[in-house]
Amino acid sequence: MSKSKQSLVVLDLDDTVMEFSRHLIETYKNMTQEDCPALTTWNLEEDVENVLRKAEKKEFYGTMKPTSGAVEFIKEMKIRDIEVIYLTARPEEYDENTSYSLCKHGIYREIIYNKNKLKELKRLSQQYNILAFVDDRAYYIEEASGAGIQSYIRTVGHNKDHKYEKRVDSLMEILNDIY
Ligand SMILES: [Mg+2]
Repeated sequence: MSKSKQSLVVLDLDDTVMEFSRHLIETYKNMTQEDCPALTTWNLEEDVENVLRKAEKKEFYGTMKPTSGAVEFIKEMKIRDIEVIYLTARPEEYDENTSYSLCKHGIYREIIYNKNKLKELKRLSQQYNILAFVDDRAYYIEEASGAGIQSYIRTVGHNKDHKYEKRVDSLMEILNDIY
């Protein structure tokens, strides 16, 4: 048998490993002292950009907390000798704060910033055996799944009505699929 490739799990950051939406709502409340309109009614590009601009993006990215089960899952990957790489749409200019918040929770791993996700997954699959890809954006998940990569959507408000069937609330739910 030929030497097998290193196993890898690829994870999105915002709303997959880190609580982006929840943090955005809390930040909005703290800034305005008002309740936040449901995120699904927001114009994601514009409204999110507005809140982030006022909240100081660096600070915002540096203080975000992990999603439930994310830390345990990523640590379990290490125990099983499975690599983890983050694939995020965040711009690289927030690398320092992104890295800081991941380090703070003991889950710092290689980060690929702001690249075409499907292209990166295909590139990574030449070197690694990709066991799973998790993201909250249905578009990325459908693309990756269509390319034959085992993909899971993490359920958050904006995707909960989407039909994709492999969904998880916590990354821990895919542990049994990964060996
Ligand atoms: Mg995301």
